[in-house]
Amino acid sequence: MRTYTKEIQNSITPNQALNTLKDGNDRFVHNTKIQRNLHDQMEETSKGQFPFAVILSCIDSRVPVETIFDQGIGSVFSIRVAGNVINEDVLGSLEYACRIAGSKILVILGHTKCGAVTAACSNVQLGNITSLLSKIKPAVDQFRSNDNAKVEGVNIEKVSLKNVELSKERILDESTILRDMEKGNEILIVKANYDISTGKVMFFED
Ligand SMILES: [Zn+2]
Repeated sequence: MRTYTKEIQNSITPNQALNTLKDGNDRFVHNTKIQRNLHDQMEETSKGQFPFAVILSCIDSRVPVETIFDQGIGSVFSIRVAGNVINEDVLGSLEYACRIAGSKILVILGHTKCGAVTAACSNVQLGNITSLLSKIKPAVDQFRSNDNAKVEGVNIEKVSLKNVELSKERILDESTILRDMEKGNEILIVKANYDISTGKVMFFED
């Protein structure tokens, strides 16, 4: 499998980048992963990196990004934070990946059975976790029927998808750089969800 060079990165369109991720996930799901020499890729990328994608996902140990998209070294930027939340540093990292380093697609990847989303629904308050979960609260609030602290009887998978949806809105609202790049068809910004039971990534293209 090829290692991404500047020439390869330049030649890829945002839609091709999306298809590359879809194909990689298909290989993962069907257990037909490509044999790579990671040591060679480590050496080949040592002088520079030209990843085609940046993926914002959760810290969940069951969602290892390079593995589930069957990617090697130097092909994707991976930003991982509990609940795949947005903050200023995440936005800066996304802008760096796309505007400075040339990535063609930005994926916001939620996943099923997310502990952070579950904790936000339960209104967990503990140390710095409180501040982290406050970033998921806007999604939880969409399902709150009154001012109860807990949101009960809600399908956390719906909250998780809403969290991804609101994250995309925040990116477009708060990053002029990424909004302009999307408008100019330089990048795609795509919502996605990973099913930890099947290994399948569902992409939501709109
Ligand atoms: Zn999670």
